[in-house]
Amino acid sequence: MAYGYMGKVLEVNLSENKIDSYSLPDKTLELYVGNKGLGARLLYDLVPPGIDPLGGENALIVTTAPLTGTGAPSSNRFNVTTKSPLTGAIVDSNCGGNFGIHLKRAGYDALIVRGKADDPVYLDISDEGVQIKDARDLWGLDTEKTQEQLPDKTGKMVIGPAGENLVKFACIVSEERVAGRSGVGTVMGSKNLKAVSAGGNKKPAIYNEELFKEACKEWRDQLRSHPATSEELPQYGTSIFINRTSATHTLPTRNFKYGQFKDADKISGETLAEEYLVKNIGCYGCPMRCGRQVKVDEKPVKGPEYETLGMLGSNLMISDLQAINEWNRQADLLGLDTISLGNALGFVMEAGEDGFIKTDLAFGRSDNISQAIEDIALRRGLGDDMAEGVAHLAQKYGGEDYAMHSKGLELAAYEPRTAVGQGLGYAVANRGGCHLGAGYVVFLESNGPITVDPYTTKGKPGLAVFNQTVLEAISTLGSCNFTNYAVFPEFLLKMYNRSRLVSKVVNNSLMLGGNQFGKFMYSPKGAVLPKKVFHHPFPHIKAHSHCTGNEMSPEDFLKLGQRVFNMCRLFNAREGFSRRDDTLPRRLTNELQRQEEPRSRVPLDEMLPTFYRLRGWDQNGIPTERTLRKLGIEK
Ligand code: SF4
Repeated sequence: MAYGYMGKVLEVNLSENKIDSYSLPDKTLELYVGNKGLGARLLYDLVPPGIDPLGGENALIVTTAPLTGTGAPSSNRFNVTTKSPLTGAIVDSNCGGNFGIHLKRAGYDALIVRGKADDPVYLDISDEGVQIKDARDLWGLDTEKTQEQLPDKTGKMVIGPAGENLVKFACIVSEERVAGRSGVGTVMGSKNLKAVSAGGNKKPAIYNEELFKEACKEWRDQLRSHPATSEELPQYGTSIFINRTSATHTLPTRNFKYGQFKDADKISGETLAEEYLVKNIGCYGCPMRCGRQVKVDEKPVKGPEYETLGMLGSNLMISDLQAINEWNRQADLLGLDTISLGNALGFVMEAGEDGFIKTDLAFGRSDNISQAIEDIALRRGLGDDMAEGVAHLAQKYGGEDYAMHSKGLELAAYEPRTAVGQGLGYAVANRGGCHLGAGYVVFLESNGPITVDPYTTKGKPGLAVFNQTVLEAISTLGSCNFTNYAVFPEFLLKMYNRSRLVSKVVNNSLMLGGNQFGKFMYSPKGAVLPKKVFHHPFPHIKAHSHCTGNEMSPEDFLKLGQRVFNMCRLFNAREGFSRRDDTLPRRLTNELQRQEEPRSRVPLDEMLPTFYRLRGWDQNGIPTERTLRKLGIEK
């Protein structure tokens, strides 16, 4: 058995009441490692093209990574991959809850659920075996009560009423953390699977315990000493970005009509910390503890993230932070993704103003939002249509220009007309309008420490390729994407004075514009990252290498990220996705956000061809045979 792995995948077919376990080929683990990468490969192999995402043929794939449960910092995340009922594309949703650690303790690297149970069931996975149990008593319970009913000291993943009612953006909840996007909870609900609990006493073997511990200590020290991961995130959580994005016009306001909210400070991380914070919370084994705890009904509960504050706050023109705390709590209990939720509410408010939809929902009015959230989860009245997402709403009622989605997935809380690289990223992201799938280029264009020209298209395709690649690799190794803050863009700055090539790339692409940056990804091995100078630019690589015994070079790390991005793209291509789906709503491509700034729109068509070329795709956005061969991807 390979080090870091438990050596077994658990597969449960709920239609046939069949439970099986098997090992994966070493080659698969070598190429796709775990979490997001492994999930993408398994989905491609297990799910035939063109299936109904809500049918028994779809697979719900839960993956872990070698670092999961080993003590590596911020690396206990698990991943859920499936074919999305919201978009028809691949979705991988990452969660910081405790399920991944406990699944490995029970002896499995991954769980694959196929088929569909006749009645509600839950899965009980333990050292004693795997059982499919009756969950009729759990059906209808919220995500908190459901978890309370499951065995103690186990990892849990559950759905709430939204997942049961097949709301297309239902999420999966584990402890208080959420696998939120693109309907992973909907697929779980379609299988009549209310919950999974896992636990046991097994542990993965580590290749070199001593060096691994040393690498983890270095990594932890780095997270504890970098200002972004030792001060900003712990002190304010992700909500620190509210004031910054508002200042740089990237905070969605009034259904993405504007990028600046006059009351941003009232919903900011600073206000949350000063007036509402009970304490910091976080995922297991993470020194950053970016989660917030606030009080709702006198009870300490998880507070809202940046995305929730943006989508349920500025996007709806609401500045009542306590109300947002309450809606966030309500959405978590019902099992709803707050990003898609905020988009659906914003769309209906605008369509209501335009007379397309008859509704009481209105910008700046908070009195009837809680009712609307419940109506969506229970599919009552207009809530039944809102539960299908904004693409459906626009198709049925009109207002397509401001239905803020890409490939059917509602956009996250960054307005990209003032961060055009992020706009490109949203359009090409494999799961649709996702800020992370986009490469989070906005971090360099708006809210991070290095500022690049947010309006220029020059260099942005390369930047999107590079950022996406790094995030895909980090996620595949099982680590939280926020660990990236401690190494990137310091990675660029550190290399700036030490490598002529990097300084040239940075000058040309980041500061001044240009298209050299992307070439970095396809440069000959070692050309840009001389091992002598920068053997381990990411601590993730070092820890992974000592954990598994497979030495991973910086080049291997970047190639892994490229492989995973292409694997997901390949799945989508097989489902019929192509260039025509790499789009944005007309509001973002054709309307200026700021009348005084003639560049404040996303000139997508200018950037797409370069992006495809740098990715090694054809003009239609499909990976070429040469690219797949280079990355070792077999169809
Ligand atoms: S940084 Fe936040 S989301 Fe990431 S692992 Fe830590 S607590 Fe979880």
